[in-house]
Amino acid sequence: MAEETIFSKIIRKEIPADILYQDDLVTAFRDITPRAPSHILIIPNKLIPTINDVEESDELALGRLFTVARKLAEQENIAEDGYRLIVNCNSHGGQEVYHVHMHLLGGKPLGPLLMD
Ligand code: 5GP
Repeated sequence: MAEETIFSKIIRKEIPADILYQDDLVTAFRDITPRAPSHILIIPNKLIPTINDVEESDELALGRLFTVARKLAEQENIAEDGYRLIVNCNSHGGQEVYHVHMHLLGGKPLGPLLMD
């Protein structure tokens, strides 16, 4: 059984977070250390530690990350200018919190993706 992270407590509203959206499958809240004017994390409510742990039964929740990202981008007024979605996996991918999350970043030009 995977160990819970702070994100499970945010989902259950046991610790404060600026929650922008929640349904039965996913929760979205503002990143505590924003790296762009809009920096939102969208996560499955189910604890999936990394993308390496994803199963076919998770497809509905993981697909919903994208539809919620689209809606929040519209809400944040960044849809037309554009934005970036990032999912980090394990240490080489820069993952710090072991509960799968999609970063939605926008509100300024983000430049080219760092590849090195
Ligand atoms: P990762 O590096 O794992 O892809 O990203 C984890 C993200 O979670 C970071 O951007 C970090 O700022 C954010 N984060 C970590 N702890 C908290 C928290 O307690 N609340 C919120 N809202 N964001 C957090």
